[in-house]
Amino acid sequence: MHRVALTAPDDYDGWRDAARRLAMAGVDPADTLWQVGDAPGDLFADDPLPAARRDGAFSVPRAFVDLAQKAILHRDPERFALLYALLIRVRARPAAMEDKAAPLLRRIDMLAKGVRRDIHKMHAFVRFREVAEGDATRFVAWFEPDHHIVRATAGFFVRRFTTMRWSILTPEACIHWDGETITEGPGATRADAPGDDPVEALWTGYYAAIFNPARLKTGAMMSEMPKKYWKNLPEAALIPALIAGAQQREAAMIATAPMAEKPARHGNAQVAWAALREEARVCTRCPLHGPATQTVFGEGPIDAALVFVGEQPGDQEDLAGRPFVGPAGQLFDAALAEAGVERARAYVTNAVKHFKYEQRGKRRIHQTPTAGEVQACRWWLGQELAIIRPRIIVALGASAARAVLGRAVTIGQVRGAAMPLEDGAEAWVTVHPSFLLRLPDPARQAEEQARFVADLLMVGERLKALA
Ligand code: SF4
Repeated sequence: MHRVALTAPDDYDGWRDAARRLAMAGVDPADTLWQVGDAPGDLFADDPLPAARRDGAFSVPRAFVDLAQKAILHRDPERFALLYALLIRVRARPAAMEDKAAPLLRRIDMLAKGVRRDIHKMHAFVRFREVAEGDATRFVAWFEPDHHIVRATAGFFVRRFTTMRWSILTPEACIHWDGETITEGPGATRADAPGDDPVEALWTGYYAAIFNPARLKTGAMMSEMPKKYWKNLPEAALIPALIAGAQQREAAMIATAPMAEKPARHGNAQVAWAALREEARVCTRCPLHGPATQTVFGEGPIDAALVFVGEQPGDQEDLAGRPFVGPAGQLFDAALAEAGVERARAYVTNAVKHFKYEQRGKRRIHQTPTAGEVQACRWWLGQELAIIRPRIIVALGASAARAVLGRAVTIGQVRGAAMPLEDGAEAWVTVHPSFLLRLPDPARQAEEQARFVADLLMVGERLKALA
């Protein structure tokens, strides 16, 4: 029996090194015993598998590595052995990763899925409370993850709250950020975390303000915000009262809306939009929410006559949580200014609200969303447009055009002309500003940029004509 002691429950590197060694020595999965530290226990797989090839170094498909890095964070004690068994299979036959119906792969997929869901919930439901620390301030949060995800999520919180000093306490481990360095400590208890503070008042005030009784779906609330997390969320204290008062509030909203615009236009539209954005924050309709930092929702006046739809947030937008703030956004701003179109009066959003990318070393390389991902996210765009009701929607690029029109189009064929939409608005299609950035030839870039500005000029003129 080969015994492997890993240093921590999420010790992927330790597992990988040991698994590689065992596989190269031809050790059968049934002859391995995996454990964390000195903990005894049976961590071996009960599904003996054929021995693997016994010679030479080997590599495995990227898909295996991605899957293993997630699944290993699961609390299931068999995960190390299951992954080793899969490694042996994949080493013998890399196509085994495609065999989605195989029980072993399905089981590991389920583990990875559970971990992704847990990470997503931690991103969404950690709430910091402010505590004094000498002359400074520290923000402290308590969270109880289902799996060993604390280290794996640390980078997310560092990127999101870089300038704050914060600690996240969990029963298994605590992480601390001082603005420059991240450190790790032993687990804590709920009693170690602070209680109420002024930040809670902000959260609860904000949540009450954006709560929209017309969109109340208690089932959805329960699944998006499971009760086990309620105790950590200051706004959760409001939920029973808000639900209880929902019908009266909805009736009041309808009663106070102008007759021609029931159930709501401006004030209520603002509330509906804020509630929609909150819902989108925890969207899991497609897999893109997993690797991205956050949902990047649209922004701008919710009574805008003009809406621009881009493809998806880029690297900088993903970190900032705002659309069109990166290099393409700057080029877009410059083109709008040249065309005399005020960005501040337009609503700007994306067809897909999460950043899709491929990690290459330290860089995150943009990847075009698939038609399925555009379709999944189209629901959010539809809701945004239903609230805003613009006169003109400008689709920037092919993915945006697909989302706005509901079908694929060739930009060159539809560019420069209005297309009527069912609700009476007009759609226009032009290129995405990132297309201009990617053109290597400066002369061609200048030419295409001038075309882009000309498209925006046309839209501006059309908007004036419709006013
Ligand atoms: S990309 Fe859109 S549909 Fe997919 S998870 Fe994000 S918000 Fe939801």
